[in-house]
Amino acid sequence: MSAPETHSFQAEVKQVLDIVIHSLYTDREIFVRELISNAADALEKLRFHQKAGEPLADDDLELGISIRVDPSVPSISFTDTGIGMNRDELVENLGTIAHSGSKQFLRQIAEAKEHSLDLIGQFGVGFYSAFMVAKSVSVYSRSFRPGDTGWHWESDGSGTYTIAPETGLRRGTRIVVRLKDEFKSFADPENLGRIIKRYSNFVPFPITLDDTRINTIGAIWAHNKSEVSREEYDEFYKFISHDFDSPRFHLHFTADAPLAIRALLFVPGKNLEKFGFTRLEPEVALHCKKVLIQPKAPGLLPEWLRFLRGVVDSEDLPLNISRESMQDSALIQKLNKVLTSRFLKFLGDEASRDPNAYHAFYDEFGICLKEGAAADHTHRDALAKLLRFPSSASEPNQRTSLADYVTRMPADQKEIYFLVAPTREEALASPYYEVFAKRHLEVLFPDEPWDEVVLERIGSFDGKRILPAEKAELDLPESSDAPAALSDDDARLVANFIKEALGDRVDEVRISRRLADSPAAVAEGEAYLTASMRRMLKSMKRDEEGIPPLRPHLEINPRHPIIHGLARARTQRPDLAAPVAEQLLDQALIAAGLHEHPGTMIRRLNSLIEKLLTEPAPSAPQPDGQPFSIKT
Ligand code: ADP
Ligand code: MG
Repeated sequence: MSAPETHSFQAEVKQVLDIVIHSLYTDREIFVRELISNAADALEKLRFHQKAGEPLADDDLELGISIRVDPSVPSISFTDTGIGMNRDELVENLGTIAHSGSKQFLRQIAEAKEHSLDLIGQFGVGFYSAFMVAKSVSVYSRSFRPGDTGWHWESDGSGTYTIAPETGLRRGTRIVVRLKDEFKSFADPENLGRIIKRYSNFVPFPITLDDTRINTIGAIWAHNKSEVSREEYDEFYKFISHDFDSPRFHLHFTADAPLAIRALLFVPGKNLEKFGFTRLEPEVALHCKKVLIQPKAPGLLPEWLRFLRGVVDSEDLPLNISRESMQDSALIQKLNKVLTSRFLKFLGDEASRDPNAYHAFYDEFGICLKEGAAADHTHRDALAKLLRFPSSASEPNQRTSLADYVTRMPADQKEIYFLVAPTREEALASPYYEVFAKRHLEVLFPDEPWDEVVLERIGSFDGKRILPAEKAELDLPESSDAPAALSDDDARLVANFIKEALGDRVDEVRISRRLADSPAAVAEGEAYLTASMRRMLKSMKRDEEGIPPLRPHLEINPRHPIIHGLARARTQRPDLAAPVAEQLLDQALIAAGLHEHPGTMIRRLNSLIEKLLTEPAPSAPQPDGQPFSIKT
């Protein structure tokens, strides 16, 4: 036999190994889960080739995983009869990380030192977890391809590994983990048996420990709901997702038409994307009569449901299904539609059954539903029902559905109104809200920048248009206690004056009938971009090209004392009137979240205040408390 060759690990593998070996992580037993999961994957792949009728090495071998301990070394060996690896595959699979998994893993570890190793399997670097407990690891493997021979891979995790031919191996892989002394308790059969049971009950292949069968449950998605306990669902989820926490929801169902389906879908507790360190990959496995076809079947569910985990089993699928074939992709699309509709119906049921649990779900995954509502025409109506927004009619920190909004609408209200603002306080203080407050009309207060796009795409709900508050054409109600308005002529004169003073900064100045407490507000004409839309466009584009220039319409409130004052100052105090007009626009821009250059405004405001404080007070206030008389 030739001498072993020595190879260096790829730099990223070295980094992963370094972290795994030196971490103070306590739940080291997960290496058992990772090695069993790799063995199960190898067996699934083998079974796939077997069903496809390909020639296999050692065709007589039973599919299974056998684990043995040798407390005298101490060591544990994991043997599977799966697809195995030839020399190149050992180098490729165990010496390098081809995908982006390691980078994500390293980044995530850097961000959350504490629990990060729990997730090691989710990043496609699970094999290296063996080095948490091992002095050295040997991998003996022989590929399922009849022409291949056996190989022995070995490493102590310190930067290099050796590889040499090995005779006498049968198909599959044996991984021998030689334990460091402080971890010898893993070689205690009773202890190890408990750990294996915890992680492998659902492996659809027999697992033995020193010839005793350990796993008993298998493919629970194929069982009847009544036969599966909550604990088994939880354990199954943890097994397939490599998650330490229980799932938030599970949906287990069967359907006969238009396709025969058994599905078990899980919603995880947390949305890992929310922490910003990773983009989730769709990871629902596709089976046909319990045979794994694809562990992460693309297209099985829409992109926006990429957080779901689980298994879909359909006997209507051909085993050798391909993504390319038109007929197969039509099948997958059909599956996709059934699964998605069923899952959305499930969410609707959960929302009415247990609103608190639904809200907790929504806090984590609402953003995915919004993504769906914006992007996916097919399911938009169903998704619109599942969305929740803060609202003027709901308690702070609560959210309401569009359906509940509609039930509260007075008979003469024709539209659904919303006002995007980062906080409820800002929404309530917005000039656009005033007319709604006075008319006691409910306004949704979506608080995320993309909400506007989402609501715009939804367009209408229950036959009612959904409109931004800024675009609503509503007048204030007639009321006796409102202050008197300027006469139409005077109001027009002020408006003309303001337009002249502001020049190109505004497109038009017009007299508003919807402002109650604010002197002025900005709005734009037909192609109106609300402030939140503008912010979002800006955040998406590096330059401002394509974003219409900000030339708002300024609406003025003919009942407001400042506008009354301006009406007189226009002729009596022209030195004040022009800066006040500018100031009105700036303040309206601030209220709309559109102001961009506060510097000039502050200088102007300072000089106005200075004038106010250094000039003598007006001789005597008028009887109505206003320094100037008001024309009514
Ligand atoms: P992942 O399982 O997510 O791909 P791992 O680090 O756990 O990542 O394993 C890396 C690769 O090594 C696997 O993708 C597989 O190709 C190979 N491998 C590991 N264990 C086995 C095994 N028992 N039989 C065959 N191949 C294996
Ligand atoms: Mg793995």
